[in-house]
Amino acid sequence: MSHSDRKLGQQKAYRLLVRGTVQGVGFRPFIYRLATCLNFNGYVKNVGEGVEIYLEGTATDFERFLQALKHDLPPLARVESLDWLEVEPEGRLKFTIDRTTAGESFVFISPDIATCPECLKEIETPGERRYRYPFTNCTNCGPRYTIVKKLPYDRENTTMASFKMCPDCRLEYENPLDRRYHAQPIACPQCGPQLVLLETRSRKSVADPLETAVHLVKQGKILAVKGLGGFHLICDPFNLQAVRRLRKIKQRRVKPLALMARDLETVARYAYLSQAERDWLISSRRPIVLLRKKKDIPEIAPEADTLGFMLPYTPLHHLLLKELKVIVATSSNQKDAPIIKDEVEISPELGDFILTHNRDIAMRADDSVLRVVDSKPLFSRRARGFVPFPQKVPDSIKSKAQILAVGGELKNTISIYKNGYIVTSQFLGDLDDYQNFGYFLETIDHFKKLFDFRPDLVISDLHPDFRSTIYARSTGLPHHLVQHHFAHLLAPMIEHQLGPEDRVLGISFDGYGYGDDGLAWGGEFLIADYRGYQRYAHLDYVPLPGGDAAVREPWRMALSFLLKAFGEKYPRLKSLDRISAPKRKAVSHLIEKNINTPLTSSVGRLFDAVSYLVGLAPEKIEFEAQAPVSLEAAASLARATTGAYHYLLLKDSLPYRLNFSPAIKEITKELIDGQKPETIAINFHHTLARAILDVSLQARQEAGLNKIILTGGVFLNRILLEKTEHLLKQNAFQVLRPVYYSPGDESLSLGQIAYGLNLTAR
Ligand code: ZN
Ligand code: ZN
Ligand code: FE
Repeated sequence: MSHSDRKLGQQKAYRLLVRGTVQGVGFRPFIYRLATCLNFNGYVKNVGEGVEIYLEGTATDFERFLQALKHDLPPLARVESLDWLEVEPEGRLKFTIDRTTAGESFVFISPDIATCPECLKEIETPGERRYRYPFTNCTNCGPRYTIVKKLPYDRENTTMASFKMCPDCRLEYENPLDRRYHAQPIACPQCGPQLVLLETRSRKSVADPLETAVHLVKQGKILAVKGLGGFHLICDPFNLQAVRRLRKIKQRRVKPLALMARDLETVARYAYLSQAERDWLISSRRPIVLLRKKKDIPEIAPEADTLGFMLPYTPLHHLLLKELKVIVATSSNQKDAPIIKDEVEISPELGDFILTHNRDIAMRADDSVLRVVDSKPLFSRRARGFVPFPQKVPDSIKSKAQILAVGGELKNTISIYKNGYIVTSQFLGDLDDYQNFGYFLETIDHFKKLFDFRPDLVISDLHPDFRSTIYARSTGLPHHLVQHHFAHLLAPMIEHQLGPEDRVLGISFDGYGYGDDGLAWGGEFLIADYRGYQRYAHLDYVPLPGGDAAVREPWRMALSFLLKAFGEKYPRLKSLDRISAPKRKAVSHLIEKNINTPLTSSVGRLFDAVSYLVGLAPEKIEFEAQAPVSLEAAASLARATTGAYHYLLLKDSLPYRLNFSPAIKEITKELIDGQKPETIAINFHHTLARAILDVSLQARQEAGLNKIILTGGVFLNRILLEKTEHLLKQNAFQVLRPVYYSPGDESLSLGQIAYGLNLTAR
């Protein structure tokens, strides 16, 4: 046997299939380097399902290869599964990166990623080819989801298609050892997108866009700046006139405005920062993080106890912030409309100048917003940086069907299911705005192309008149409806990978959802598994005088709770005295005669009432959850809980009812005695947490349940969430809550998919 024959004898071959976020994240060059370093011949290529690797070499080296694959992945790559088998060697002579073959199955696309340290260094280094170039990126960073038009993820299928690579970029792009190997959005000043500054009214371009833009902001102008998923409106946060003008443009009087700061040190001047909050701020996802105020900036978030900060996430932001330190960076849209992605939509009423470029945005995405509670994220908006991250489904509930879920009405998202994974879209806004409904349709269409998605069935909310429900009906697909609060708790069940045998007590607290009795639910204790639920308890019904009007005007709920607690002879309170007697009379009349006054079990409305009674909520709110947010802010000012109010758990029949009339009476008395709103606010939060514990203990005793899910928009309230989790854990309950998804209506579509899986499980 010759030497070479013997070598051939030891030669083995392996075929691997890697699934996960492995395309467009520098995975193939990583494999190339690894394989050549270990003397393998063969190839690596993108296929429909992920990345296929073929290796010829020794068994020992293969062991090493698998180890490295597990431990040394490129930063953005995420392996969901790895399958391999030994095959017959083909006798390859070298290792190559082969062309993509398009396939049928599910491919993951990376979310957009903030500028990496290496790219940042390049743009800051004079003499570098990309010095001060605002569109610098590499395989480890840059735009992804927002520039992809369809699969496979190749340059011609992105909005970079129209830019022809220069020879220098081409060299980097084709060199497997380069950081920009196959970086589809690769660009440089010679061949890539260019920045322009336009005067909005005349659309005339202005010289030195970057320098001039900085100068204009310093002068107090408002600029529309193109980012990854849309335009921001930016201005100087310390220029009151500019901030007030921006508020007028956005039709926001008090709703908080987001800030972008140069670095952590700058943020730390205005807000308290924990380690987890620092980590989130500098993470490659770059969300807006809500942070406790240290030094307030006037009129940025007047009614909240937090400031929302993010750090720069594109080279353009870095270059701007180098000069500006802190800017207001709010999404460029008129009230309730989707974020703007094309500069033609920027009217002179929106901003004085437009800082833009010629790389199109294929898909809009707002900034994500989270706060850190108990070292874990709590999302109030999940979009850029997190979408389209796939959610794995437990094997035990997988289905062969492809499922579309269309979410609710407010804070809508859609989700799709295919081959064991769910992808939830970015936050799409409230569908009662026709432009957002357009965005909803656009996103469904986009997902079909992006994921080669062909739904077999569609799931919607139970509400017959939600635009999403009407859309679902119009698809002609088999259509199933899921009760709102059930969907709310199915979402974290999937996120926490519960199985079909798991039964939970789901505590679903929010503003509104259509109940299976047709009433307005929102304070629900559901005993549930994937198959269905039993309504175990709920907040006792109170009248919702005027329906939607009572949602906009919290004083109506204050009156409704007072009437329930005291009857017609309710005591006089300062806050209600602000409302004219005829107006109050009219609302009492609605309740008495049961005109346009459905019953509600909403915890959101209870918060509205208390917030109004203590004098925090305005007569008419400007944005959803405004009244509860001010009550939470007041509670966070209080040093400690000084007591709890009374409530009744009515157990005469199922479902049980939690009645807060005793609490309303006590709060009223305290107000008359001159108690501080902060004290009432904190004690009210504490009372609610105690009530949740009571019902949970009852459920454990009666149904043997120990697993509790806290979900629904009310649990965006940090104080309530912390107090409730604490009390429940103290009593040995296992407590689960949404972590990488919002507890709010954004996650309904995810929960709806879970229900669809149950219907179609094999
Ligand atoms: Zn980079
Ligand atoms: Zn170039
Ligand atoms: Fe809800």
